[in-house]
Amino acid sequence: MIHIKRTSSTAKVLTDKRLKSTRRPGLTRADLECEKAIEYYTVTLPAEQAKVKAKNAQAALNGGALLDSPKIKFPFSVYGDEHVVKELMTLFHKKCAYCESHFRHVTPADIEHFRPKGAVIINGSLEHPGYYWLGADWDNLFLSCPRCNRKDQLDVPGVQSTVSGGKGNHFPLLDESKRVRKHGLSLADEEAVRLLLNPCIDDPEAVLRYEDDGSILPKRRLRKLNRRRADTSISVYGLWQGELRDKRKELLDQLKLELITIERFLRMIDRMKSAGESPADIQTEQDVLDMHMGVLKGMFEPGAEYLGMLRYQLRQELEPGRAGDRLVRVGLDLTKLLV
Ligand SMILES: [Zn+2]
Repeated sequence: MIHIKRTSSTAKVLTDKRLKSTRRPGLTRADLECEKAIEYYTVTLPAEQAKVKAKNAQAALNGGALLDSPKIKFPFSVYGDEHVVKELMTLFHKKCAYCESHFRHVTPADIEHFRPKGAVIINGSLEHPGYYWLGADWDNLFLSCPRCNRKDQLDVPGVQSTVSGGKGNHFPLLDESKRVRKHGLSLADEEAVRLLLNPCIDDPEAVLRYEDDGSILPKRRLRKLNRRRADTSISVYGLWQGELRDKRKELLDQLKLELITIERFLRMIDRMKSAGESPADIQTEQDVLDMHMGVLKGMFEPGAEYLGMLRYQLRQELEPGRAGDRLVRVGLDLTKLLV
């Protein structure tokens, strides 16, 4: 996971003319939906619930049939607007905001609400409503792969079994008493106890580390809140799952291989020059070296997968005596890849 900066230009999507309301000039469709959601969750739904409760009280006295609680069915839709989806794809470089996987070539994007809009899991049970006033709030919308966003069976590393995982309606806090359950209130106190890393606010690279097998872990010696955030995010987003770990390992191995290969080509070309070999032969090797350099640079492009892990590994490789450090010593400025 990496930090993604939300810019004012991308935020405009919910307010620009493409999403203006046709019925209420001056309002956007996001404003209108927010108004309706507030009315639904604070007036319409409680009134329906009260009616059912009263009828059931009567039925209990008269021996009549009890009614089910009214179904909660607010039609949030602005977040799925094609313009919003397009802007989120651009912002997140078509990668999942949480696991950094490419997935668009095999499955549609999920537009994920960081704070769940309809319901939220509190102490293990699903409670309504969720953060209904943030259903079309730009800062609450993320591009996510279905694996991170939806509840699903996830592969446990190293064993032939799965366990239930995925973010779903989870939004855990360190202190439940700080949870905001109504619109119009500041989220500042809740933010201070939020247990999920927000890629657009936090710097996940400051708290996450990776091992040679692609495992992801909290960094050592973190303060309590950061440790809990890293731990909880790895758990809730399912960043630990086996198939994802294996994909990260593939890329980690590729990075190590590229660094060693580039080092060998540099040495070989030096030797060839010293030995006075033909310029054509040297150029042939130089062309292959350039291809490897291109592959290495491509691995660190903003849209590349698992950039957080690759940058973590490259920082390790830049330590004295390691492959990256040796390349820096011969004039290859690999630190540019970390910017
Ligand atoms: Zn994901």
